[in-house]
Amino acid sequence: MNKCIMSVDDSPTIRSSISFCLENAGYDVIDAVDGQDATEKLEKIRADGQNLSLIITDINMPKMDGLTFIKKVKESDFRFIPILVLTTEGDSAMIKKGKEAGAAGWLVKPFQPEQLLWAIKRLIWLK
Ligand SMILES: [Mg+2]
Repeated sequence: MNKCIMSVDDSPTIRSSISFCLENAGYDVIDAVDGQDATEKLEKIRADGQNLSLIITDINMPKMDGLTFIKKVKESDFRFIPILVLTTEGDSAMIKKGKEAGAAGWLVKPFQPEQLLWAIKRLIWLK
């Protein structure tokens, strides 16, 4: 069975490029448009008893930003799922905040597919 990854980003272009990259590498992808949408989708994943291997999230998003979303995940049944941040934010203070919130990895956009896949593999193995 394919490993399933949730991808959270408010940009349709980024969502489709992440999905394209991950699906080509044999992962199943569940998309969400912001932290709130992602939280609702996690509820559904939990209710369905579906397995999730990793969450990739943006930081700057409407409704619920990435930092708030990461904190919510870390307080939920999904707290052991590794979270990879993929964002335009490369500022060290912001990265520190993200790591403190519970992010396991941090990639700055634009991403190279190989770089993203490598980061994902590393986080899934480490887990
Ligand atoms: Mg964004």
